Amino acid sequence: MALVEERKDSSGRNADVVYCTFCPSKILNSGAAAFVNIEFVLPEIMCKKGGEADKREPISDYWMVEDINCFENIGVSHTVDNVKYLACADCERGPVGWHDVSTCKSYIALSRVKHEKPSSQKK
Ligand SMILES: [Zn+2]
Repeated sequence: MALVEERKDSSGRNADVVYCTFCPSKILNSGAAAFVNIEFVLPEIMCKKGGEADKREPISDYWMVEDINCFENIGVSHTVDNVKYLACADCERGPVGWHDVSTCKSYIALSRVKHEKPSSQKK
């Protein structure tokens, strides 16, 4: 796995396009999120609805997205303790991150998504 530093551009934003690890769904364009180091415990990835989220994983490397409209595609779950878990909009696998209802900011775990170089031309 590549170092976090290689994922960031010079201003600390995501240099790569962020995709779902399970399907071709695009989650974020490059530059849409800022890297933050914040400790948050996410339930382990589940397939669709089956099974209980009994396993949890502490993660500290996240892409922070100021506005939920900055996502290309994202699925949002019901609210649990002021938090909505975020999953892929297409295959519904997740959580890949969480949305803080009180600050309206969203966080995507670097370890739960796929990073790919943006295709040739920049806009
Ligand atoms: Zn997906």
